[in-house]
Amino acid sequence: MSEFEVDLFVIGAGSGGVRAGRIAASHGARVMVAEEYRVGGTCVIRGCVPKKLLVYASHFAEDFEDAAGFGWSVGETRFDWARLIEAKDREIDRLNAAYIRNLERSGAKLEPMRAVIEGPHAVRLADGRLVTAGTILVATGGAPYIDPALPGRELAISSNEAFHLQRLPERIVVVGGGFIAVEFAGIFNGLGVETTILHRGDGLLRGFDEDLRHKLREEIEKKGIRVVLGDQPAEILKADEELVLRTAGGLEIEAGEVMIATGRLPNTAGLGLENAGVARDGAGAIVVDAYSRTNVPSIYAVGDVTNRVNLTPVAIREGHAFADTVFGGKKIAVDYAGIPKAVFSQPEIGSVGLTEAEALAEFPAVDIYRADFKPMKHTLSGRDERMLMKLVVDGTSQRVLGCHILGAGSAEMTQLVAIALKMGATKEDFDATMALHPTAAEELVTMRQPSMRHRR
Ligand code: NDP
Repeated sequence: MSEFEVDLFVIGAGSGGVRAGRIAASHGARVMVAEEYRVGGTCVIRGCVPKKLLVYASHFAEDFEDAAGFGWSVGETRFDWARLIEAKDREIDRLNAAYIRNLERSGAKLEPMRAVIEGPHAVRLADGRLVTAGTILVATGGAPYIDPALPGRELAISSNEAFHLQRLPERIVVVGGGFIAVEFAGIFNGLGVETTILHRGDGLLRGFDEDLRHKLREEIEKKGIRVVLGDQPAEILKADEELVLRTAGGLEIEAGEVMIATGRLPNTAGLGLENAGVARDGAGAIVVDAYSRTNVPSIYAVGDVTNRVNLTPVAIREGHAFADTVFGGKKIAVDYAGIPKAVFSQPEIGSVGLTEAEALAEFPAVDIYRADFKPMKHTLSGRDERMLMKLVVDGTSQRVLGCHILGAGSAEMTQLVAIALKMGATKEDFDATMALHPTAAEELVTMRQPSMRHRR
């Protein structure tokens, strides 16, 4: 019997923490998990899952419009935000309960309260109990970042509050140009809210392929979203009925809500990391090695709190690899190459591998294959929405280095393309694959001529 009360103490029951706790328990470890909010974490409770439900909801407006081109007469349509939120909350409650059940079934003990590190092997629970642990795992995730120097910041909401608005505003300004900003702008716009995106950069979604970035802006502007670039909020004021957002560039934008989506920061404040001497980087993230171990040998960290690749499946992999390494006798480091990404903007984006610019920086010869077309559905719907597909290919080996898609279904396609890329597929492999007709994805295997050959 070990000298400690538990073998593993997990702080935070989100994607990474829950997976780590369950797998460690399956390896025979005595596990305790503390969670101060709701089991499931950001992804399940106020992130990926409820977001995607709202994206589905908001898309119906276009679906009703498109139906006319296919012979349908859709009568009066009405949308009830409160009913949607109620339905969404029911689903989140169900998932939350499933997470609790699965965790308990694994043998892990759940403590529904905050926990603070007291030393390399000690954690203090909010009710005063001190628990000793052979290993401590920090999996506390992240939280929305709002510039603390922005006057009127308390009048703004983040994505956390957006999921629980009492009512939809008539107008909204979404600040930021990343994942959350473009996804929520699409949701609000689809639900009939007059939507403005205000972003400091010269394009949305920095880091994504340039063609996709341009195309996304074009397409969301066509749908009625106003995109203001190269400007920042200077102040938020309360006017009679609404708020006024004053920008550094001198604009005054009136809106019922101002939503700030300017990134997220690791949740490390008040965790007691200093009590054990756990090192953090300049952004506050816990510094870990390839096995998620901190500078303190008995303390590990996974997920957004480490600010590596802040995506749910990555946190899950990190949690699993940690548990296998520490309790399963298998030393496993997560492979971060070729992680597929999706942005549930409208239209959505799927992306895996190198962008054109990244490939050019790394390879002397790069071929670009590009298809920009009207999807079949919109021949009859009449909607002016295009789809973009792009393959980035190493001109020397013909290996496909990247695949970038904008349009309906692109996230689903990208998950599968990611397998081919992970296996090292070449352009010849894509060409040798029979097209599946009629699909949009068949474009990926029928692009014969490069649209651009870069050589240096
Ligand atoms: P992102 O990092 O994607 O985007 C942050 C945006 O805010 C960028 O446009 C950035 O501009 C801007 N910004 C940052 N700081 C400031 C500032 N001080 N003033 C003005 N603008 C600023 O973060 P999100 O909040 O959108 O999302 C957080 C993370 O959550 C994502 O990075 C992603 O990892 C994850 N996520 C994933 C989703 C998915 O997989 N579909 C969905 C939602 C979130 P600039 O580009 O100039 O730096």
